[in-house]
Amino acid sequence: MCCSGVYMEQDIIISIKNLSKAYKLYNSPKDRLKEALFPFLKPRHTDYYALNNVSLNIKKGETIGIIGKNGSGKSTLLKIITGVLTPTSGEVKVNGKIAALLELGAGFNPEMTGIENVYMNGIIMGYTEEEMDKRIDKIIEFADIGEYVYQPVKMYSSGMFARLAFAVAINVEPDILIVDEALSVGDMRFQIKCMDHMKKMMDSGTTVLFVTHDINAVRRFCSRAVWINEGSFTKEGDVNMVADAYLDYLKLGEFAFEENVEQNEHTDSDKDLPAFVHSDTIADIVGFHIYNQHGSLTNDIMYDEPVTIEVIYDVFDENIESPVLGIALRSIDHDYICGINTLLDKVEIPWKYGRNRFHVKFIHGILATGGKYYFDAALFDKTATVSFPYKAMVSFVTVSSSYVGEGRYIIPHKWS
Ligand code: ADP
Ligand code: MG
Repeated sequence: MCCSGVYMEQDIIISIKNLSKAYKLYNSPKDRLKEALFPFLKPRHTDYYALNNVSLNIKKGETIGIIGKNGSGKSTLLKIITGVLTPTSGEVKVNGKIAALLELGAGFNPEMTGIENVYMNGIIMGYTEEEMDKRIDKIIEFADIGEYVYQPVKMYSSGMFARLAFAVAINVEPDILIVDEALSVGDMRFQIKCMDHMKKMMDSGTTVLFVTHDINAVRRFCSRAVWINEGSFTKEGDVNMVADAYLDYLKLGEFAFEENVEQNEHTDSDKDLPAFVHSDTIADIVGFHIYNQHGSLTNDIMYDEPVTIEVIYDVFDENIESPVLGIALRSIDHDYICGINTLLDKVEIPWKYGRNRFHVKFIHGILATGGKYYFDAALFDKTATVSFPYKAMVSFVTVSSSYVGEGRYIIPHKWS
């Protein structure tokens, strides 16, 4: 091994190490000027970290989705990888040719013609002029913008611009393709052509970094995802796991997410149940257990895994006629997914003074799409109207799902 630089494993095509990008923020243009004129006085800027110490290794052939809300640092990361921006600290090693579709305009010179820009891009990627001569016809044909290829790029509409950028990026056989929210440009037939081409590139082993707001497109195309929030990686790993967590965050926000969800995450076991203590009320729900198909207590289930719910309740007043037990499943943003009760199902529940237990089995699993959910549980009068106790959020559950459908719920189905 050589003595200089970072050792790169053979199958790692992009290695990002402790990367940060700080922008100087000034309160006013005057401050910026003062700082430039008097560099020895107290600095007038504050550092704003668009990227804050992120590290990531990307293997050859991986398709990585990068998600996060606006301003989280996605484009900054891609621009540093492509070399359009220099980092403040940290390093990026790239082991191959990159073609990038960055935010509109980046990487093109507005004064040069379309063709000149194509050559310039090719040469930046490491191709010779002769090598680009061989590709230029294919690129022009793919872009399909007519005589405009001979005009300066500043005269292009955003659609024409995107066509040319895409035509270059996917016709130069890059090792790495970087796409920053560029898929919604152009007309429908052009989009189909691009997707078709991108899919072929992915299948033939091109490494792809993909930024989009379309989380389901990330699920469709990527095996791995990174969620960036305020310049840091919040989660990284299996695409569905990261996408589920990000969507939960969008639904509820960070604060509520941590406060409410993680605290309730612990799994009750019988030994954590309170002792039975008489009360003058009618009844109380004291436990709510979720068992997987192996009989283990859990708060993490697969969407299609059979689960059994146990509700443990103390009865203080035996003289209640035909009491009803109900449970509800709600999404983290409080959408009512499913409510069932023993009145609707015409089932009687045990009602003896002291501790009682009753179970319901979700035979086919809860069939909800991935993400966090919670249960409410309640005991009611015989009309299921008056609740003795109504316990909201008695238990949280994280549902994992392969990418088998979108929305809230997977309806059991068969195509023909
Ligand atoms: P994303 O692509 O995730 O929407 P960006 O990477 O474009 O986010 O931006 C990350 C943050 O850096 C944003 O808060 C943005 O305002 C800031 N930023 C980007 N470019 C500059 C710049 N030239 N000067 C100061 N701040 C910038
Ligand atoms: Mg961006």
